[in-house]
Amino acid sequence: MPDHLFYQSAVKLPTIARAQGVYAWDVDGKRYVDACSGAIVAQIGHGHPAVRAAMLDQLDKVAFAYRTQFENQPALDLAQRLVDLGGGRFDRVFFSSGGSESVESALKIARQYWVCRGEPQRKVFIARKPSYHGATMGALSMTSYTPLTQPFAPMFPLYPKVASPTQYRVPAGRSVAEHALACADELEAAILEAGAAHVAAFIAEPIGGASTGAEVPHAGYFSRIREICSRHGVLLILDEVMTGMGRTGRWFGYEHWDVRADIVCLAKGLGAGYYPVSAIMTRAEVTDPVLAAGGFQHGYTYAGNPLASATALAVIDVIEREGLVENAASTGAYLLQSLEQLASRHGFIGDVRGRGFLLAVEYVADRASKEPFAPALCFGDAITRAARDCGLIVYPRKSLMGETGDHTLIAPPLITTPAQCDEIVDLLDAACTAVQRTADAR
Ligand code: PMP
Repeated sequence: MPDHLFYQSAVKLPTIARAQGVYAWDVDGKRYVDACSGAIVAQIGHGHPAVRAAMLDQLDKVAFAYRTQFENQPALDLAQRLVDLGGGRFDRVFFSSGGSESVESALKIARQYWVCRGEPQRKVFIARKPSYHGATMGALSMTSYTPLTQPFAPMFPLYPKVASPTQYRVPAGRSVAEHALACADELEAAILEAGAAHVAAFIAEPIGGASTGAEVPHAGYFSRIREICSRHGVLLILDEVMTGMGRTGRWFGYEHWDVRADIVCLAKGLGAGYYPVSAIMTRAEVTDPVLAAGGFQHGYTYAGNPLASATALAVIDVIEREGLVENAASTGAYLLQSLEQLASRHGFIGDVRGRGFLLAVEYVADRASKEPFAPALCFGDAITRAARDCGLIVYPRKSLMGETGDHTLIAPPLITTPAQCDEIVDLLDAACTAVQRTADAR
């Protein structure tokens, strides 16, 4: 059969036939453990009957309604539900369909807020390096990952990027805590350099996902960030596209440090792979000036449609009813421990880290010096391929010009049991052994 699809690579992948829970099967009947929820999306696993029932029920009523023509109850209910989950921190919600769209929405509401507040010179957005915030132009301009940004760099302004805090590669002579504060202070330096009156917002993930590989910042980091943003009137946007909806063992990543964000982006686990749905949560203080000036000049056709909203409501119900946030915390801690044991068996595993069910294994050429593998080696890709051969799906990230090593995200559905964690670790162990054997044979 001719293959008309084009993606990043020409590698022929297995064709999926079906999936249930944490498992997927290809058309040849081979079974895979989905140890990364697809792209950290399938929050409640595959084929959940409660979501299917809710979607069918909504399909029988109305699938689509356009937001300028009708209100719809599922969207109103979903907004209320998110506000409730936010524990009163947020009281305004805006829907879209994907993570990049939610980041675009956050950037645009922040920008329009400043225009409507009479400070149109606030047009500088500051992000971190490395970072990933999405593929659309605004989200890409916040992203610091050269292979993705370089071809498109002339199409957007070059915004300041400050260091993401790492606990793994702390510069010599600094403690983890000192390094975290130094990274936060880079934000203040960037704000002062741009001129505080020109800065609109700072965007960061609470726990770095694909970019840093589940790097958990030191406890002091976000309180310093909040302090700096407040001092200079800069809005704090938290990109919880990956960390939100229970992924890290809390409903939202910001809960780990009780950091107060002005805008939060959600996607991935919100629709859990059953339907594309994303959102931003913010406060009336941010939206009121915009609404008073004629409204948010932004929107997507599929935003807040009834089927998307009913799906997300059903997903949230499942997460609550099945205690999946708690499971992410406790079983995630067990998986982290098991991965640490795995590291003791493979010298090229430099670090194992993360929170809840957002975990990562980083591979290094030398454990003592933490030197990454040369990017040309594509070590992480070799692990991904070997894992797939063994029946394990993991989420890879290539090393970034020697700044970070190759890593694999291990982020299974929040329903994953300890026995299934054992299965994941055993399969990853087999994949690591296979890669080592190939390297030894060279
Ligand atoms: N932000 C973060 C933190 C992400 O991880 C991603 C997706 N990996 C996005 C934004 C973009 O989401 P999407 O691919 O759904 O547009």
